[in-house]
Amino acid sequence: MTRKILILGGSGEALALARALSTAPGITAILSLAGRTAVPAASPIDVRRGGFGGTAGLARYIAEHKIDLMIDATHPFAAEMKRHAVEAAASAGVPLLAIRRPAWAPQAGDRWIEVDDLAGAAAALGEAPARVFLTTGRKELTPFAAAPQHFYLLRSVDAPEAKRLPPHVDLITARGPFRLEDEFALMRDHRIEIVVSKNSGGAAAAPKLEAARALGLPVVMVRRPVLPEAISVANVTEALDWLAAHHDVTFSA
Ligand code: NAP
Repeated sequence: MTRKILILGGSGEALALARALSTAPGITAILSLAGRTAVPAASPIDVRRGGFGGTAGLARYIAEHKIDLMIDATHPFAAEMKRHAVEAAASAGVPLLAIRRPAWAPQAGDRWIEVDDLAGAAAALGEAPARVFLTTGRKELTPFAAAPQHFYLLRSVDAPEAKRLPPHVDLITARGPFRLEDEFALMRDHRIEIVVSKNSGGAAAAPKLEAARALGLPVVMVRRPVLPEAISVANVTEALDWLAAHHDVTFSA
């Protein structure tokens, strides 16, 4: 009998998991994306896009599509979707596994200023005009638009709407993974003085932190949001092990 697995995506882990499940015998996997990115990375499995309509909508989707198991592989800052996943899995009676990527931790030579949210990050930039490398995404620019004295080098997957932008801005649209030498050159060439990042964790975006360390630059680091309790693993390999151990899913080499 074929089992159906719903992957809540929006991360590199979700795509890697989709790849692994695409060839697993007896498994049909569906990748769910919020639809934020105009051209998402190519998926080897079927994709559905857009919100479910809260916890109740997700529980309904699980029932209607006869989902047997759900894997939350959303971005570490997608706190609302993670909460809906926990609640909907409980109400629909399906097992849920969350992939919770470890946060970055400061290393010797790092000059981190840790803050709770993006408003705190904008405040941490201070009053004096600074040259800022802003990598926190295009959706939440309001706090930085309210700190217009700074120059922002803003990097996001898609370009933000013009009306959201601070006045002094250079835009770069790019998708990771990024390389240390490119990050170093980018920051040096733009005479960056401070970096703003969410503590997303993972290898793909970490080179900006290494470059900041090498250049002696401070990093304003937004802490992880509080997440609901769930059975969780740290990475895709552990997720595949969990599927094999608890749900008899087999994978071709
Ligand atoms: P969020 O605040 O936790 O979610 C907001 C709403 O977006 C959810 O309630 C849900 O709408 C919808 N949604 C989110 N992820 C979804 C998914 N995989 N499939 C279907 N609907 C989804 O999350 P967000 O910050 O908007 O992030 C949205 C997407 O971008 C996620 O896939 C996330 O992994 C990715 N992402 C987020 C960040 C970040 O910093 N937040 C960074 C990179 C990528 P309904 O309530 O209508 O179901």
